[in-house]
Amino acid sequence: MTKQIIVLGAGMVGVSTALALQERGYDVALVDRRAPGQETSYGNAGFIQREAVRPYAFPREWQTLRKVIAGSGNDVHYNLAATLKILPTLARYWHESAPVRYSRTIASYAALIQHSISEHEKLIEAANAGELVRKDGWLEAYRNSEKFDKTVKQANTIAAEHGLNVAFYDSQGLQRAEPALNNALAGAIHWLDTWTISDPGELVERYAALFQRNGGTILNCDADTLRFNNNGWQVHTSDGPITASDAVVCLGPWAAKLVEPLGYKIPLFIKRGYHRHYKSESGLKLPLLDAERGYALVPMKRGLRITTGAEFAELGAPPTPVQLSAAEVFADELLRLGAPVESNPWVGARPCVADMLPLVGSAGRHRGLWFHFGHGHQGFTLGPTTSRLLADLITGSSPYIDPRPYDPRRFG
Ligand SMILES: Cc1cc2nc3c(=O)[nH]c(=O)nc-3n(C[C@H](O)[C@H](O)[C@H](O)COP(=O)(O)OP(=O)(O)OC[C@H]3O[C@@H](n4cnc5c(N)ncnc54)[C@H](O)[C@@H]3O)c2cc1C
Repeated sequence: MTKQIIVLGAGMVGVSTALALQERGYDVALVDRRAPGQETSYGNAGFIQREAVRPYAFPREWQTLRKVIAGSGNDVHYNLAATLKILPTLARYWHESAPVRYSRTIASYAALIQHSISEHEKLIEAANAGELVRKDGWLEAYRNSEKFDKTVKQANTIAAEHGLNVAFYDSQGLQRAEPALNNALAGAIHWLDTWTISDPGELVERYAALFQRNGGTILNCDADTLRFNNNGWQVHTSDGPITASDAVVCLGPWAAKLVEPLGYKIPLFIKRGYHRHYKSESGLKLPLLDAERGYALVPMKRGLRITTGAEFAELGAPPTPVQLSAAEVFADELLRLGAPVESNPWVGARPCVADMLPLVGSAGRHRGLWFHFGHGHQGFTLGPTTSRLLADLITGSSPYIDPRPYDPRRFG
C-alpha cells in the first residue's frame, strides 16, 4: 500500500520535501494557508549560495558588537523589547559562535552546502526552469581598500579549504566588469560557483507545479489544525480533514510556535529582512553586496531588487524598513537606482536556530512526526539538499550525508 504523508508549509523547504518524498513513492499532500512560495522563499535575494560554507555567527569581537548595539551600521537593526524577549536564545547563539564550536558548525554546514547546486540542478531541469537561472556568481564589493585586502585573504582561505572558485577585481577591474558603477568601490570578490535566480518565488512555484504534474496534491489549510489521533496525523483543509501516518513540519519562521504545544521548545528566532525593486536602467550585470553598507543589489525580473540585512523584531510586528531607506541612499551613491516599483517594501523573516544548523529528522517524542525547518540565511539554497536527507531518514535508506548534526533531538 502507498504510504501517505502530510507536508506542512509550501515554501522552498516544504515544496522540495514534497518532491523528494514523491520521488520515493509516497502519496504526498502539501498543505499551506497560502499558495506555494509566497512567504520567505518569495522575498529573498535568490542566491543558491554555494560558497556560503560559514553560517552567520553571533559577533564575538567587541568592536563589531559595540557597532551593533550602538546601531551605527546598516547590516543589523534591532527592536530592543523584541530582542530582550529572546535574550536566552541569543545567549545560546553567542555561546555556539565561540571559535571551537563554530568551526565544528562550519564543517556540518559545509557538508550540506556542497550539495546545494547539484540538488537544485536536478529540480531546475525537471521543472524546466532554466531561464530563471544565472550561473555566473555574484560580487562581494568593498569601499575601503584595507577592508577589501583583509577580506581577500579570508576569501582565498575559504576557497582553498572548500574547493571554491573565486576571482578578484581591483577598483578599475570592477569598473570594467560593471560599467554601471560610478567608481566608488575599492574592489570586489567574485564568487563564481553560486547560481542566482531572477524570481525566487517563481522557482518555488515551478517546483510546486512539477510536484502537481507528478500527481501530488496541494491543499489550502491552516497548519494549526494539526492533531494526532489513533489513525495518525490529521489536519483540516478547505476540502475537509485529511489523515496520514506521518507529517513533516516545514513552516520556516512559524514552525517553533506550532510545535511548542506538543512539548518541543526549539531555540528558533527570526532575523527579518526587507526588499524592494527599482526601475534602474543602470544595467548592473551581477548581484552585488555592498558589504560595508549591509545590503545587496540583485538584478531580477521585476527590477533591481535591494535586499537588506538582519532585523531583530517580532514576527508579524509592523514593518520598520529603516535599513532599506538607508540602503536606497547608499545604492544611489553607486549607480542610478531609479524609482521604486512597489509602493511599500516587502518584509520577511529568516528562520534561524541558535546553533546555526537546520532541524532535519524525527521530532523525537511523537511517532510519525518529522521536523524540517530552521534554515536561516540559506533556506532557499538548502531546501532540496536537506529534503533529500530527510527523505533518506523517513524511508529508512542510508543517509547521503551524516544526519547527526541536524537531528532535532539535540534540543531534548
Ligand atoms: C531578505 C532576505 C534575503 C534572503 N536571501 C537568501 C538567499 O539569497 N539565499 C538563500 O538561500 N536564502 C535566503 N534567505 C533565507 C531564505 O529565504 C529562507 O531561509 C527560506 O525561504 C526559508 O524557507 P522555508 O520554506 O523554510 O520558509 P517559507 O518560505 O517562509 O515557507 C513557510 C511556509 O509555511 C506557511 N505557513 C506558515 N504558517 C502556517 C500555518 N499556520 N498554516 C499553513 N501554512 C503556514 C507559509 O505560508 C509559507 O508558505 C533570505 C531571507 C531574507 C529575509
